[in-house]
Amino acid sequence: MHHHHPCNRKPIILSFFFVLYLNLHNQQTIEARNPSQFTIKPSRDVSIPEIKRHLHRFGYLSKDNEPDDVLFEQALARYQENLGLQITGKPDSDTLSQIRLPRCGFADDVEPKTTPLHTKQKYVYFPGRPRWTRDVPLKLTYSFSQENLTPYVTPTDIRRVFRRAFGKWASVIPVSFIETEDYVIADIKIGFFTGDHGDGEPFDGVLGVLAHTFSPENGRLHLDKAETWAVDFDEEKSTVAVDLESVAVHEIGHVLGLGHSSVKDAAMYPTLKPRSKKVNLNMDDVVGVQSLYGTNPNFNISGLLASETSTNLADGSMIRFEEIMYSTLTTFMAMCFLNW
Ligand SMILES: [Zn+2]
Ligand SMILES: [Zn+2]
Repeated sequence: MHHHHPCNRKPIILSFFFVLYLNLHNQQTIEARNPSQFTIKPSRDVSIPEIKRHLHRFGYLSKDNEPDDVLFEQALARYQENLGLQITGKPDSDTLSQIRLPRCGFADDVEPKTTPLHTKQKYVYFPGRPRWTRDVPLKLTYSFSQENLTPYVTPTDIRRVFRRAFGKWASVIPVSFIETEDYVIADIKIGFFTGDHGDGEPFDGVLGVLAHTFSPENGRLHLDKAETWAVDFDEEKSTVAVDLESVAVHEIGHVLGLGHSSVKDAAMYPTLKPRSKKVNLNMDDVVGVQSLYGTNPNFNISGLLASETSTNLADGSMIRFEEIMYSTLTTFMAMCFLNW
């Protein structure tokens, strides 16, 4: 049930992909994560205590008792389900690789899924399904804290990246995002912060938590200033560089009320590899956010599919094309169930 968030005003930390870490828990204390836990060495072993710590941290195990084997296996199986892995209940190699990846700090299963039969709906909401409740078409303002920027990216590039990221969501729902210089009154307040910055969710340095966001209608979107933020990997050669736009797209999904998806190609999937980009919405993201806000009259489903298809064809991966067709089919089925 909603053991993590009894109330919506609590910060939901949606950390981002690598280092995002979110503490969603009201009373639950989450152990400080050692950023080195997220180094990217494929051969590195993950001990059982580390796995348990990971499961605790992201909401799969209660902190109260040492789990017995049955509880551990059940928790691991739910983790595998939520991450779209094969459900074995065992710490197999796919699962260990996923645990090693940097990820969003936001817990994965904050809301039990009420999945209609025969559909593959993967998106989730926060407890109570909070959303921005003003009338649609909705106008939301956003602003950047001028005192809290990043040395890695120019203010101009930050604004450009976020404009593009907001545009992705605005193209599918009847919501517009308008930049304002007035940070105090803006609906969405964006800034880069270091360590403990006063909201009870301290950042953890390089590659720990990347970012966190509060659930609607709070609007705070915080990025870890310790990250090597990048807008162009040709320019930024650091091995721990994090793509700002990918994180922005993901965090804006949380601003709007989406939780984590188990669809690996979804923007709302919790993990992201360093030096990788995932800036486009997947059908799962689209259906999830449209069920909260409705559909943008100009939204064109075939346009989205065409861009996904061409991207994947450019990768030379025909198998992906089948997956897209499958996800399209299930999306339409989900729409039927939801009485679209
Ligand atoms: Zn997240
Ligand atoms: Zn914060």
